[in-house]
Amino acid sequence: MSEVDFFVIGAGSGGVRAARMAAGYGAKVAIAEDLYAGGTCVNVGCIPKKLYSIAAHFHSDFEDSRGFGWDVSEQNFDWDRLKNNKVREILRLNTIYENLLAQSGVQFYKHRAVIKDAHTVDVGGELIKAKHILVATGGWPYVPEFPGKELVTTSNEIFDLPQFPKRLVIVGAGYIAVEFASIFAGLGSQTTLVCRRDMPLKEFDDDIRKHFCKEAAKHFTMLTNANVASVHKNPASLLVTLENGTTLEADVVLYATGRKPNTDGLGLENVAVELAESGGIVVDQNFQTHEPSIFAVGDVVGRLALTPVALAEGMFVANHLFGDKTRQMSYQNIPTAVFTHPNIATVGLTEKQALERGLGFSIYESNFRLLKHTLSGRDERTYMKVVVETASDRVLGMHMLGTDAGEILQGFAAAMQCGLTKALLDSTLGIHPTAAEEFVTMRTPRPSK
Ligand code: FAD
Repeated sequence: MSEVDFFVIGAGSGGVRAARMAAGYGAKVAIAEDLYAGGTCVNVGCIPKKLYSIAAHFHSDFEDSRGFGWDVSEQNFDWDRLKNNKVREILRLNTIYENLLAQSGVQFYKHRAVIKDAHTVDVGGELIKAKHILVATGGWPYVPEFPGKELVTTSNEIFDLPQFPKRLVIVGAGYIAVEFASIFAGLGSQTTLVCRRDMPLKEFDDDIRKHFCKEAAKHFTMLTNANVASVHKNPASLLVTLENGTTLEADVVLYATGRKPNTDGLGLENVAVELAESGGIVVDQNFQTHEPSIFAVGDVVGRLALTPVALAEGMFVANHLFGDKTRQMSYQNIPTAVFTHPNIATVGLTEKQALERGLGFSIYESNFRLLKHTLSGRDERTYMKVVVETASDRVLGMHMLGTDAGEILQGFAAAMQCGLTKALLDSTLGIHPTAAEEFVTMRTPRPSK
């Protein structure tokens, strides 16, 4: 039986990073992956999603170019070409991931791994002894029970649909649901988002959500406070019936109703690892489970389902076990973007979170039309908001709905990590003419409500 210092289950964002770092510290490392190197992000998540979002943006870019003197008369969208080019790029990335692991000296097993005991893993019939085991098995789309569940599509399949859906119904209210609504509407689908709350994106700032709903209505239909009762197959379509009796016809029904930690068939019953009610693996501040030799990171823990978080957690574990134990994992000021049209980006506290914490704060905001749209004629507003703590002048949160919001907020997130204050924002000169400069030119707080 071969022996390693560190056996990683799952070659996704967290697993690959932990394996490579541990090997870099001189540990003997093996990793198992049963589906695709690179995990969710590379294969059915961030990367294909962003590529399709770029594809969708061309639609409005062609329209916007008219006001600037261009005439793009013929506009044909070829779904198969986009799909095939995406597949080629993902295959390239899969190979890069495998090569990176090989170059780091990590043994790669293209098999499912099952934990046999606290120090043994079965990978494709071979038993391997490991001093430490890392579970980095990610998440899997969750679809609730209802009549017709078997007819719906999830984010795992949506990128490779055999035919482009002319009519698409999306069920969900999280960032993945609204991103796909923007993407498919942009690509030309008649898109309806069915959302069981009064607004999607409940973790985001309420002003951003309100402004987003106004912008989204220009691209797709949003049915709020609505629940699906059933989905039926008609000869040439799917019929979605809502609890209020409304019916919707669609070529594809996409369920983006959340993701569950991926622990099925992992052999956790053979060890002392515990699961929370959410299904996530319970870990302490060092990502150690109740079984001392087993650690877990990323979506299978489910603290914050984002690639940079899984990467940081994976690095933390590799450091903790084989390297610099003083490095800490911080969940403060984690910036994130939603690749809707227009984009959303956020870092720090929302106004509601600041209120709930009993903080005294002021709100600075700006709502304007991009310079580009003075000539494009597009009716699109950009909205920005800054939450500032009154006593300390510290910037608690920054939020944006507008073109390239993610690109803009990344730098401000770094500034917030350095203790950004409103006075520092005010003393920063803008880059003119940009949308980003609005963040350093907001002088007057919004009158308190
Ligand atoms: P994963 O990347 O999911 O990797 C887990 C791997 O483990 C998988 O490859 C799986 O096949 C493998 N595995 C599971 N069980 C076993 C087993 N028993 N044996 C062997 N292998 C196994 N995050 C962002 O930061 N930005 C985004 O824009 C973004 N967009 C997203 C869009 C979509 C549609 C989705 C679904 C997710 C998106 N995410 C995004 C989230 C991001 O993809 C995840 O947070 C991230 O991939 C989690 O990394 P992980 O290492 O925990 O798991």
